Amino acid sequence: MKKLSLFMFIDALGWEIIKDRDFLKDLAPNRYRVGMQFGYSSTAIPTILTGEKPTVHKHFSFYYYAPDKSPFKMFKYLLLPYLPGAIVDRWRVRHILSKLVAKLYGYTGYFEMYAMPFDRIHYFDYIEKTDMFVPDGLKPVKNLADKLEERGIPYHISNWRLKEIENIEALIKEIRTGEIRFAFLYTAAMDGLLHMVTKDGKEIDEKIEWYSTQIQRVIEEVKKRYDDFYFAVISDHGMTTLAGVVDVKSQIEGLGLKFGEDYVAVYDSTMGRFWFLNGQARERILSLLNQVPNSHVLSEEEEKKYFIAFENHMYGEKYLLMDPGWQIEPCDMGIKALPAMHGFAPEHKDSYAALLSSEPVDIPLNYVDDFHHLMIKKMEERQD
Ligand SMILES: [Zn+2]
Repeated sequence: MKKLSLFMFIDALGWEIIKDRDFLKDLAPNRYRVGMQFGYSSTAIPTILTGEKPTVHKHFSFYYYAPDKSPFKMFKYLLLPYLPGAIVDRWRVRHILSKLVAKLYGYTGYFEMYAMPFDRIHYFDYIEKTDMFVPDGLKPVKNLADKLEERGIPYHISNWRLKEIENIEALIKEIRTGEIRFAFLYTAAMDGLLHMVTKDGKEIDEKIEWYSTQIQRVIEEVKKRYDDFYFAVISDHGMTTLAGVVDVKSQIEGLGLKFGEDYVAVYDSTMGRFWFLNGQARERILSLLNQVPNSHVLSEEEEKKYFIAFENHMYGEKYLLMDPGWQIEPCDMGIKALPAMHGFAPEHKDSYAALLSSEPVDIPLNYVDDFHHLMIKKMEERQD
């Protein structure tokens, strides 16, 4: 019996987006709502790839406070004095600079500086320096590729740098050889589309239709070369339409405290993260944060519940989380809010991820790390 287990990852294909659609109903009739890992894809993907929580694999947001080992010190001395802000703040320029930095340091992960100010970036380090999908990509924690290699299972995992159609073609090519027994197809364009047109955009129907056609092509090839297969679609989170914006950064800066001396902060699109460098700054910032509209400061219980209570406060001593739909504008990820965003409370209906499965699933499906456990189960079942 030659069997294949095929998992397809569609970024941001949340439960709310899929629950009333017929997408792959025949192929994958078993449909489940699954809890999101609090945070962004930067934490959801390593969680899915390792089956561990962020406090274990250490990937949460991109930037963390690390002034001594920051790789961005050169911006302070080399680039800043020569480059006018209007130029370095342009997305295209930042994208090219990000590519240069990645090359210079040999980063193989997804590296993008976003809108992090160049006069602040040297306080931070960046977590995703290596390609998380390849063997040793999340070491010392074992990832999907490590576990496949350990078991000696021939596999194919997409190259996240390629376009969706290139990854689909690469998978089809592998299937035609009939050698692989496990495949992880990665697609991410849905996320970008949902950010721009929201979950109610008519373009979403077209995109889902396109995925459907591509999957039929893949499955036809599978049926030609395998006696049996398992197929699942997994996602990491949903998408929440913009409700409004709050300029948290200006409010904090209005306190007149000195960045780098009194406090340090990162403004992600749905969350502010704060480190306090003295007691007075802590008191003043916390009392202000408690009054920021459409938001709340996460309690220690919530940090634990969301698996982000890092012992060394690597990602912040306190987190301000915006209410669903409310974005921080401007933030270090972008100057303007997007029409839709994710990274709100996992309990909100638009946050949930989804699993569409060709067979009923009999393991718990609480959070996206359970997708990892499902993948392990299927790779072990499918060994000849
Ligand atoms: Zn996104």
